[in-house]
Amino acid sequence: MINEQYKAMLGGKSVIRTLSEYATQRGAEIGYDNVFDYSLGNPSVPAPASFAKAMGDLYDRADPVALHGYSPSLGIPSVRAAIARSLNRRFGMDYTADHIFPTTGAAGALSHAMRAVTKPGDEVITFAPYFPEYQPYVTGTGATLTVVPADTDTFQINFDAFERAMNPNVAAVLINTPNNPSGAVYSEATLRRLAAILEERQRAYGHDIFLISDEPYREIVFDGGEQPYPSRFYANTLSCYSWSKSLSLPGERIGYVAVNPAAHEADILVPMMGQISRGTGHNCPASSIQLAVAEVVDETADLSVYERNMNLLYDALTDIGFDVARPGGTFYIFPKALEDDATAFCMKAKEYDLILVPSDSFGVPGHFRMAYCIDTDKVERSIPALCRFAREQYGL
Ligand code: PLP
Repeated sequence: MINEQYKAMLGGKSVIRTLSEYATQRGAEIGYDNVFDYSLGNPSVPAPASFAKAMGDLYDRADPVALHGYSPSLGIPSVRAAIARSLNRRFGMDYTADHIFPTTGAAGALSHAMRAVTKPGDEVITFAPYFPEYQPYVTGTGATLTVVPADTDTFQINFDAFERAMNPNVAAVLINTPNNPSGAVYSEATLRRLAAILEERQRAYGHDIFLISDEPYREIVFDGGEQPYPSRFYANTLSCYSWSKSLSLPGERIGYVAVNPAAHEADILVPMMGQISRGTGHNCPASSIQLAVAEVVDETADLSVYERNMNLLYDALTDIGFDVARPGGTFYIFPKALEDDATAFCMKAKEYDLILVPSDSFGVPGHFRMAYCIDTDKVERSIPALCRFAREQYGL
Protein backbone atom coordinates (compact mmCIF):
# COMPACT_ATOMS: atom_id res chain seq x y z
CA MET A 1 0.00 0.00 0.00
CA ILE A 2 1.42 3.40 -0.86
CA ASN A 3 2.02 5.90 1.93
CA GLU A 4 -0.87 8.37 2.07
CA GLN A 5 1.17 10.93 4.01
CA TYR A 6 3.69 11.39 1.19
CA LYS A 7 0.97 11.12 -1.42
CA ALA A 8 -0.84 14.04 0.22
CA MET A 9 2.38 16.07 0.11
CA LEU A 10 2.38 15.90 -3.71
CA GLY A 11 -0.35 18.56 -3.68
CA GLY A 12 1.85 20.96 -1.71
CA LYS A 13 4.49 21.76 -4.31
CA SER A 14 6.99 24.46 -3.27
CA VAL A 15 5.85 27.90 -4.46
CA ILE A 16 9.50 28.93 -4.82
CA ARG A 17 10.31 25.99 -7.11
CA THR A 18 7.17 26.62 -9.16
CA LEU A 19 8.14 30.27 -9.68
CA SER A 20 11.70 29.32 -10.52
CA GLU A 21 10.42 26.86 -13.14
CA TYR A 22 8.22 29.61 -14.57
CA ALA A 23 11.27 31.96 -14.75
CA THR A 24 13.23 29.33 -16.68
CA GLN A 25 10.33 28.77 -19.06
CA ARG A 26 9.85 32.54 -19.55
CA GLY A 27 13.62 32.81 -20.12
CA ALA A 28 13.33 30.35 -23.00
CA GLU A 29 10.81 32.73 -24.61
CA ILE A 30 12.42 36.17 -24.08
CA GLY A 31 15.98 35.33 -23.04
CA TYR A 32 16.78 34.59 -19.38
CA ASP A 33 18.71 37.88 -19.18
CA ASN A 34 15.38 39.69 -19.50
CA VAL A 35 13.70 37.83 -16.66
CA PHE A 36 14.23 39.48 -13.25
CA ASP A 37 14.29 36.20 -11.43
CA TYR A 38 14.31 36.80 -7.67
CA SER A 39 12.85 33.39 -6.86
CA LEU A 40 15.58 31.02 -5.74
CA GLY A 41 18.26 31.20 -3.03
CA ASN A 42 20.96 29.73 -5.21
CA PRO A 43 24.30 31.52 -4.66
CA SER A 44 25.44 33.57 -7.66
CA VAL A 45 29.16 33.69 -6.93
CA PRO A 46 31.63 30.87 -7.54
CA ALA A 47 33.23 28.85 -4.75
CA PRO A 48 36.70 30.22 -3.93
CA ALA A 49 39.66 28.99 -5.97
CA SER A 50 41.09 27.47 -2.78
CA PHE A 51 38.19 25.01 -2.73
CA ALA A 52 38.84 23.85 -6.30
CA LYS A 53 42.53 23.53 -5.41
CA ALA A 54 41.73 21.46 -2.30
CA MET A 55 39.51 19.21 -4.41
CA GLY A 56 42.18 18.95 -7.15
CA ASP A 57 44.94 18.16 -4.66
CA LEU A 58 42.85 15.40 -3.15
CA TYR A 59 42.20 13.88 -6.56
CA ASP A 60 45.89 14.18 -7.50
CA ARG A 61 47.50 13.05 -4.28
CA ALA A 62 45.15 11.23 -1.92
CA ASP A 63 44.92 7.47 -1.83
CA PRO A 64 41.96 6.86 -4.17
CA VAL A 65 40.72 3.92 -2.14
CA ALA A 66 40.45 6.11 0.97
CA LEU A 67 39.21 9.17 -0.95
CA HIS A 68 36.32 7.28 -2.50
CA GLY A 69 35.85 4.86 0.36
CA TYR A 70 33.12 4.76 2.99
CA SER A 71 33.27 7.49 5.58
CA PRO A 72 33.01 6.30 9.19
CA SER A 73 29.32 6.57 10.06
CA LEU A 74 29.88 9.58 12.33
CA GLY A 75 32.11 11.37 9.80
CA ILE A 76 35.85 11.49 9.17
CA PRO A 77 37.64 12.20 12.49
CA SER A 78 40.16 14.71 11.05
CA VAL A 79 37.31 16.65 9.38
CA ARG A 80 35.25 16.73 12.57
CA ALA A 81 38.31 17.95 14.48
CA ALA A 82 38.99 20.71 11.92
CA ILE A 83 35.38 21.94 12.24
CA ALA A 84 35.55 21.87 16.05
CA ARG A 85 38.83 23.85 16.07
CA SER A 86 37.38 26.45 13.70
CA LEU A 87 34.23 26.96 15.82
CA ASN A 88 36.26 27.15 19.04
CA ARG A 89 38.60 29.74 17.52
CA ARG A 90 35.81 31.87 16.10
CA PHE A 91 33.19 31.67 18.81
CA GLY A 92 35.04 30.78 22.00
CA MET A 93 33.41 27.35 22.26
CA ASP A 94 35.01 24.13 23.50
CA TYR A 95 33.82 21.54 21.00
CA THR A 96 35.81 18.39 20.37
CA ALA A 97 35.54 16.30 17.21
CA ASP A 98 33.01 14.15 19.08
CA HIS A 99 30.47 17.00 19.10
CA ILE A 100 30.45 17.40 15.31
CA PHE A 101 28.27 15.36 12.95
CA PRO A 102 28.85 15.98 9.20
CA THR A 103 25.63 16.02 7.19
CA THR A 104 24.28 16.57 3.69
CA GLY A 105 23.79 20.32 3.98
CA ALA A 106 21.74 22.19 6.54
CA ALA A 107 18.69 20.15 5.50
CA GLY A 108 20.40 16.94 6.64
CA ALA A 109 21.62 18.68 9.80
CA LEU A 110 18.14 19.89 10.70
CA SER A 111 16.42 16.59 10.16
CA HIS A 112 18.99 14.75 12.29
CA ALA A 113 18.90 17.38 15.05
CA MET A 114 15.13 17.31 15.05
CA ARG A 115 14.91 13.53 15.35
CA ALA A 116 17.54 13.43 18.10
CA VAL A 117 15.61 15.71 20.47
CA THR A 118 11.93 15.17 19.66
CA LYS A 119 9.60 12.22 19.50
CA PRO A 120 6.32 11.82 17.61
CA GLY A 121 3.60 13.96 19.17
CA ASP A 122 6.03 16.61 20.50
CA GLU A 123 5.77 20.23 19.49
CA VAL A 124 8.50 22.29 17.83
CA ILE A 125 8.17 26.07 17.90
CA THR A 126 9.54 28.35 15.21
CA PHE A 127 9.16 32.05 14.44
CA ALA A 128 7.57 33.62 11.40
CA PRO A 129 8.78 34.38 8.87
CA TYR A 130 10.37 30.95 8.47
CA PHE A 131 11.89 28.77 5.73
CA PRO A 132 8.92 26.78 4.31
CA GLU A 133 10.88 23.51 4.32
CA TYR A 134 10.63 23.52 8.13
CA GLN A 135 7.17 22.02 7.72
CA PRO A 136 8.40 18.77 6.12
CA TYR A 137 11.55 18.67 8.28
CA VAL A 138 9.39 18.73 11.41
CA THR A 139 6.32 16.76 10.36
CA GLY A 140 8.59 14.06 8.91
CA THR A 141 9.64 13.28 12.50
CA GLY A 142 6.05 12.93 13.73
CA ALA A 143 6.27 16.19 15.70
CA THR A 144 4.15 19.24 14.92
CA LEU A 145 5.35 22.73 14.02
CA THR A 146 3.87 25.72 15.86
CA VAL A 147 4.59 29.09 14.29
CA VAL A 148 4.90 32.20 16.45
CA PRO A 149 3.65 35.28 14.56
CA ALA A 150 6.23 37.77 13.35
CA ASP A 151 7.20 41.15 14.65
CA THR A 152 6.93 42.71 11.20
CA ASP A 153 8.67 45.95 12.23
CA THR A 154 12.03 44.46 13.17
CA PHE A 155 11.68 40.72 12.38
CA GLN A 156 13.37 40.01 15.71
CA ILE A 157 11.51 37.52 17.95
CA ASN A 158 7.99 38.47 19.03
CA PHE A 159 8.57 37.52 22.67
CA ASP A 160 5.05 38.14 23.98
CA ALA A 161 3.61 35.79 21.39
CA PHE A 162 6.42 33.29 22.06
CA GLU A 163 5.74 33.19 25.80
CA ARG A 164 2.05 32.63 25.10
CA ALA A 165 2.86 29.76 22.71
CA MET A 166 5.19 27.92 25.10
CA ASN A 167 3.70 24.86 26.83
CA PRO A 168 4.95 21.61 28.37
CA ASN A 169 4.62 19.75 25.05
CA VAL A 170 7.37 21.86 23.43
CA ALA A 171 10.52 19.79 23.00
CA ALA A 172 12.48 22.13 20.73
CA VAL A 173 12.60 25.68 19.46
CA LEU A 174 13.88 26.25 15.94
CA ILE A 175 15.50 29.55 14.99
CA ASN A 176 17.13 30.79 11.81
CA THR A 177 19.50 33.72 11.96
CA PRO A 178 20.47 35.45 9.70
CA ASN A 179 16.95 34.83 8.56
CA ASN A 180 15.52 33.57 5.33
CA PRO A 181 13.35 35.41 4.20
CA SER A 182 13.55 38.64 6.27
CA GLY A 183 17.35 39.07 6.30
CA ALA A 184 17.10 39.85 10.04
CA VAL A 185 20.14 39.09 12.18
CA TYR A 186 19.12 38.21 15.73
CA SER A 187 20.96 40.47 18.14
CA GLU A 188 22.80 39.31 21.25
CA ALA A 189 19.96 40.85 23.30
CA THR A 190 17.39 38.75 21.41
CA LEU A 191 19.42 35.56 21.86
CA ARG A 192 20.03 36.21 25.58
CA ARG A 193 16.33 36.88 26.18
CA LEU A 194 15.38 33.71 24.29
CA ALA A 195 17.90 31.71 26.35
CA ALA A 196 16.55 33.12 29.63
CA ILE A 197 12.98 32.14 28.71
CA LEU A 198 14.05 28.64 27.66
CA GLU A 199 16.03 28.14 30.90
CA GLU A 200 13.05 29.23 32.93
CA ARG A 201 10.63 26.97 31.03
CA GLN A 202 12.95 23.98 31.29
CA ARG A 203 12.85 24.39 35.06
CA ALA A 204 9.08 24.92 35.11
CA TYR A 205 8.29 21.93 32.87
CA GLY A 206 10.98 19.66 34.31
CA HIS A 207 12.40 18.59 30.94
CA ASP A 208 14.92 19.72 28.35
CA ILE A 209 13.92 22.15 25.63
CA PHE A 210 16.50 22.07 22.86
CA LEU A 211 17.35 25.06 20.69
CA ILE A 212 17.91 24.02 17.09
CA SER A 213 19.76 26.86 15.44
CA ASP A 214 19.73 26.91 11.64
CA GLU A 215 22.72 28.97 10.46
CA PRO A 216 23.52 28.55 6.75
CA TYR A 217 23.78 32.37 6.33
CA ARG A 218 26.07 32.86 9.35
CA GLU A 219 28.79 34.57 7.33
CA ILE A 220 26.54 36.75 5.17
CA VAL A 221 26.19 39.74 7.51
CA PHE A 222 26.29 43.37 6.32
CA ASP A 223 27.84 46.62 7.54
CA GLY A 224 30.88 44.78 8.91
CA GLY A 225 28.68 43.14 11.57
CA GLU A 226 28.74 39.58 12.87
CA GLN A 227 26.07 37.07 13.79
CA PRO A 228 26.35 36.38 17.55
CA TYR A 229 26.74 32.60 17.94
CA PRO A 230 23.44 31.35 19.47
CA SER A 231 25.02 28.33 21.17
CA ARG A 232 27.12 30.64 23.35
CA PHE A 233 24.01 31.73 25.22
CA TYR A 234 22.18 28.42 25.78
CA ALA A 235 23.68 25.05 26.63
CA ASN A 236 21.03 22.80 25.06
CA THR A 237 21.82 24.03 21.55
CA LEU A 238 22.31 22.06 18.35
CA SER A 239 23.85 24.33 15.68
CA CYS A 240 22.99 23.32 12.12
CA TYR A 241 25.26 24.66 9.42
CA SER A 242 26.08 24.20 5.77
CA TRP A 243 28.61 25.54 3.32
CA SER A 244 25.86 25.87 0.71
CA LYS A 245 25.76 29.67 0.93
CA SER A 246 29.07 30.75 2.49
CA LEU A 247 31.25 28.70 0.14
CA SER A 248 28.67 28.57 -2.69
CA LEU A 249 28.50 24.77 -2.55
CA PRO A 250 24.75 23.96 -2.42
CA GLY A 251 25.04 21.08 -4.85
CA GLU A 252 27.82 19.40 -2.87
CA ARG A 253 25.42 18.81 0.03
CA ILE A 254 27.80 19.38 2.92
CA GLY A 255 27.14 20.73 6.41
CA TYR A 256 27.11 19.59 10.04
CA VAL A 257 25.41 19.56 13.40
CA ALA A 258 27.51 20.91 16.28
CA VAL A 259 26.30 19.79 19.72
CA ASN A 260 27.07 22.23 22.53
CA PRO A 261 29.39 20.27 24.89
CA ALA A 262 27.35 21.57 27.85
CA ALA A 263 24.07 20.19 26.45
CA HIS A 264 22.28 17.45 28.38
CA GLU A 265 23.75 14.10 27.26
CA ALA A 266 26.01 15.94 24.79
CA ASP A 267 28.29 12.92 24.58
CA ILE A 268 25.64 10.64 23.11
CA LEU A 269 23.79 13.03 20.80
CA VAL A 270 26.18 12.60 17.87
CA PRO A 271 26.25 8.78 18.17
CA MET A 272 22.44 8.94 18.30
CA MET A 273 22.45 10.89 15.03
CA GLY A 274 24.54 8.08 13.58
CA GLN A 275 21.74 5.70 14.54
CA ILE A 276 19.15 8.03 12.98
CA SER A 277 21.21 7.90 9.76
CA ARG A 278 20.96 4.13 9.72
CA GLY A 279 17.19 4.40 9.58
CA THR A 280 17.08 7.11 6.93
CA GLY A 281 19.90 5.75 4.76
CA HIS A 282 21.70 9.11 5.05
CA ASN A 283 25.04 7.55 5.98
CA CYS A 284 27.27 10.62 5.87
CA PRO A 285 28.29 13.01 3.08
CA ALA A 286 30.82 11.77 0.51
CA SER A 287 34.32 11.29 1.93
CA SER A 288 35.87 13.52 -0.78
CA ILE A 289 33.67 16.52 -0.02
CA GLN A 290 34.21 16.17 3.73
CA LEU A 291 37.98 16.20 3.20
CA ALA A 292 37.85 19.13 0.76
CA VAL A 293 35.82 21.48 3.00
CA ALA A 294 38.07 20.67 5.94
CA GLU A 295 40.88 22.33 3.96
CA VAL A 296 38.92 25.61 3.58
CA VAL A 297 36.93 25.51 6.79
CA ASP A 298 37.49 29.20 7.64
CA GLU A 299 37.03 30.60 4.14
CA THR A 300 34.11 32.00 2.20
CA ALA A 301 33.34 32.80 -1.41
CA ASP A 302 33.49 36.52 -2.25
CA LEU A 303 30.18 37.45 -0.62
CA SER A 304 30.43 41.21 -1.24
CA VAL A 305 27.98 41.16 -4.17
CA TYR A 306 25.11 40.38 -1.80
CA GLU A 307 25.66 43.54 0.24
CA ARG A 308 25.99 45.59 -2.94
CA ASN A 309 22.72 44.15 -4.29
CA MET A 310 20.94 44.62 -0.96
CA ASN A 311 21.88 48.32 -0.82
CA LEU A 312 20.75 48.89 -4.41
CA LEU A 313 17.41 47.17 -3.84
CA TYR A 314 16.75 48.62 -0.39
CA ASP A 315 17.35 52.17 -1.68
CA ALA A 316 15.23 51.60 -4.80
CA LEU A 317 12.36 50.00 -2.88
CA THR A 318 12.24 52.74 -0.25
CA ASP A 319 12.47 55.44 -2.96
CA ILE A 320 9.51 53.86 -4.75
CA GLY A 321 7.52 53.89 -1.52
CA PHE A 322 7.69 50.28 -0.32
CA ASP A 323 7.59 49.60 3.41
CA VAL A 324 10.68 47.44 3.97
CA ALA A 325 12.96 46.46 6.87
CA ARG A 326 16.64 46.78 5.93
CA PRO A 327 18.21 43.29 5.96
CA GLY A 328 21.19 42.77 8.26
CA GLY A 329 22.38 39.76 6.27
CA THR A 330 21.57 36.85 3.88
CA PHE A 331 20.64 37.52 0.26
CA TYR A 332 16.93 38.09 0.84
CA ILE A 333 14.76 41.14 1.35
CA PHE A 334 11.14 40.96 2.52
CA PRO A 335 9.12 44.11 1.73
CA LYS A 336 5.44 44.66 2.39
CA ALA A 337 3.39 44.05 -0.76
CA LEU A 338 1.35 46.90 -2.18
CA GLU A 339 -1.89 45.03 -1.57
CA ASP A 340 -3.01 42.64 1.16
CA ASP A 341 -3.04 39.62 -1.13
CA ALA A 342 0.66 38.85 -1.66
CA THR A 343 -0.08 36.15 -4.24
CA ALA A 344 -2.15 38.55 -6.37
CA PHE A 345 0.64 41.12 -6.04
CA CYS A 346 3.30 38.65 -7.22
CA MET A 347 1.09 37.47 -10.09
CA LYS A 348 0.83 41.07 -11.33
CA ALA A 349 4.61 41.48 -11.00
CA LYS A 350 5.06 38.58 -13.44
CA GLU A 351 3.59 40.79 -16.17
CA TYR A 352 6.74 42.94 -15.75
CA ASP A 353 8.95 39.84 -15.74
CA LEU A 354 9.61 40.39 -12.05
CA ILE A 355 9.61 37.01 -10.31
CA LEU A 356 8.78 37.68 -6.66
CA VAL A 357 7.79 35.10 -4.04
CA PRO A 358 4.60 35.71 -2.03
CA SER A 359 5.05 35.59 1.72
CA ASP A 360 2.26 33.22 2.73
CA SER A 361 4.40 30.09 2.73
CA PHE A 362 6.84 31.91 5.05
CA GLY A 363 4.06 32.28 7.61
CA VAL A 364 3.49 36.02 7.15
CA PRO A 365 0.70 37.54 5.04
CA GLY A 366 1.07 40.56 2.78
CA HIS A 367 4.81 40.53 2.06
CA PHE A 368 7.05 39.19 -0.70
CA ARG A 369 10.59 37.83 -0.86
CA MET A 370 13.28 38.81 -3.32
CA ALA A 371 16.34 36.52 -3.45
CA TYR A 372 18.97 38.94 -4.77
CA CYS A 373 21.69 36.34 -5.26
CA ILE A 374 21.86 37.42 -8.90
CA ASP A 375 24.23 39.61 -10.93
CA THR A 376 24.32 43.27 -9.89
CA ASP A 377 23.75 44.25 -13.50
CA LYS A 378 20.41 42.45 -13.43
CA VAL A 379 19.44 44.07 -10.13
CA GLU A 380 20.14 47.46 -11.71
CA ARG A 381 18.13 46.60 -14.82
CA SER A 382 15.22 45.38 -12.69
CA ILE A 383 14.76 48.73 -10.92
CA PRO A 384 12.98 50.49 -13.83
CA ALA A 385 10.67 47.44 -14.06
CA LEU A 386 9.93 47.71 -10.31
CA CYS A 387 9.18 51.45 -10.70
CA ARG A 388 6.89 50.84 -13.67
CA PHE A 389 5.09 47.99 -11.87
CA ALA A 390 4.46 50.11 -8.74
CA ARG A 391 3.36 53.11 -10.79
CA GLU A 392 1.11 51.37 -13.28
CA GLN A 393 -0.51 48.92 -10.87
CA TYR A 394 -0.58 50.90 -7.61
CA GLY A 395 -0.14 54.54 -8.62
CA LEU A 396 3.19 55.03 -6.75
N1 PLP B 1 17.71 26.56 6.17
C1 PLP B 1 17.49 27.70 5.50
C2 PLP B 1 17.00 28.88 6.25
C3 PLP B 1 17.71 27.77 4.12
O1 PLP B 1 17.47 28.92 3.47
C4 PLP B 1 18.16 26.62 3.45
C5 PLP B 1 18.36 26.63 1.99
O2 PLP B 1 18.04 27.55 1.27
C6 PLP B 1 18.38 25.45 4.18
C7 PLP B 1 18.14 25.46 5.54
C8 PLP B 1 18.86 24.20 3.53
O3 PLP B 1 20.22 24.37 3.27
P1 PLP B 1 21.05 23.25 2.49
O4 PLP B 1 20.87 23.52 1.04
O5 PLP B 1 22.45 23.45 2.93
O6 PLP B 1 20.53 21.93 2.89
